[in-house]
Amino acid sequence: AFDYAPAPESRDLANLKPAYRPFIGGEFVDGGGEPLKTINPATEEVLAEVGTASASDVDTAVKAARRAHTRVWGPMPGSERAKYLFRIARLIQERSRELAVLESLDNGKPIKESRDSDIPTAAAHFFYHAGWADKLGYAGLGPDPKSLGVAGQIIPWNFPLLMLAWKIAPALACGNTVVLKPAETTPLTALVFAEICRQAELPPGVVNILPGAGDVGAEIVGHGDIDKIAFTGSTDVGKEIQRSVAGTRKRLTLELGGKAANVVFDDAPLDQAVEGIVNGIFFNQGHVCCAGSRLLVQESIAGELLEKLRYRVSTLRLGDPLDKNTDIGAINSAEQLGRIRELVDSGEHEGAQRWTSPCSLPDKGFFFAPTVFSDVHQSMRIARDEIFGPVLSVLTFRTPDEAVTKANNTPYGLSAGIWTEKGSRILWMANQLRAGVVWANTFNRFDPTAPFGGYRESGFGREGGRIGLEAYLDA
Ligand code: NAD
Repeated sequence: AFDYAPAPESRDLANLKPAYRPFIGGEFVDGGGEPLKTINPATEEVLAEVGTASASDVDTAVKAARRAHTRVWGPMPGSERAKYLFRIARLIQERSRELAVLESLDNGKPIKESRDSDIPTAAAHFFYHAGWADKLGYAGLGPDPKSLGVAGQIIPWNFPLLMLAWKIAPALACGNTVVLKPAETTPLTALVFAEICRQAELPPGVVNILPGAGDVGAEIVGHGDIDKIAFTGSTDVGKEIQRSVAGTRKRLTLELGGKAANVVFDDAPLDQAVEGIVNGIFFNQGHVCCAGSRLLVQESIAGELLEKLRYRVSTLRLGDPLDKNTDIGAINSAEQLGRIRELVDSGEHEGAQRWTSPCSLPDKGFFFAPTVFSDVHQSMRIARDEIFGPVLSVLTFRTPDEAVTKANNTPYGLSAGIWTEKGSRILWMANQLRAGVVWANTFNRFDPTAPFGGYRESGFGREGGRIGLEAYLDA
């Protein structure tokens, strides 16, 4: 029982024992899995040893979540649930500096991004969904929408706390309880979030966090007493999960990969477009599912645009993620760096023209200089495969029809960008593009009120906005 007041001072943080261990039934426990080491990708030093969950921990967590759903969280009035969500949102704000630093250390992303984007947007998701918790019956979501029960949630490493917020906030607002697995390379902010749940006095078992590798995710997916799986990650693993839940009663939403086209017409405001292109592909080192990784530029302005773009990219500062001036931080893991290198090599072998920003790379850590490929053809791997790194592939087009055909020539369908002064063209393009999100004269804009999700191999289901609640309701 508490009001909207912030957490009392007496709630001594030290007594919460920050523990990088599984969080089950409101307690940090010694997981039965092999401990894993999470490293700082900018220095290659070990940041923390993290306890992981075993199959039997997954079962204990699901039982704790089921009990919490049946006894406390499911029957609780939405107005009461809202208070907890508001409190969690405020605690994220109160601990935002600590969370931002930890996120940059564990992930490698520049501090100005974790400070100004990841952490505040995570808090915004809890504020937004707190507002929904007592209004579900009046929003066209069915006459008496009910929670589903226990949600199993699996998230990737590129936006660790933000992806957690996208998953947990709507689930809790709708009255579900959750068992969430963070990615193996970025488990730390999820475990600070577990502390925040304790600070907020969230009833035990409503949120359970299970660090571990893919096998822990597979255990969650395969558990017989889970009602819904929400997955964000690669298309290959998404397909595996889809096969695994086929024939069960589990609901499923998948947020998978992308190969977005950023389409620039000859009437676009070029300097603004250059900023949008740079943000589209170099934000978070390009580790963004909706990254504008294919630039489609109208042939008549291609030369001028490329020149401006190369100049702007050469001014990006690469280095220490904790330096407030850094634009490009570290690649999250040696494995991901290897994948990027392999795809960049394929681009050179297939005959694309490679340009690399003339920045120097630190001696230690996983870094990759911003790279732009021109003379790219649609058949090349760098035009088709998701690189998930700071690498842009530039293609050209002559007519709007050709732009649409090329933009849609991908198995994915997550996002797209359009740059033009013509409003009618924006509306026409937005209807033609098979992409869940279409930005016009901007890119990478996220807001809890706007649904996000893909078509085709980018997955199905939407997160955010009113429609995002449908995934967590039996309406
Ligand atoms: P990944 O699929 O390798 O891993 C994602 C998560 O799934 C991790 O927590 C991992 O441990 C877990 N996992 C691995 N194997 C599993 C299995 N068999 N069963 C259950 N869980 C399993 O992806 P990644 O490399 O961590 O993330 C990068 C990918 O995520 C990219 O393809 C990117 O486009 C995608 N992504 C998509 C969105 C979106 O909203 N569409 C957002 C962020 C990232």
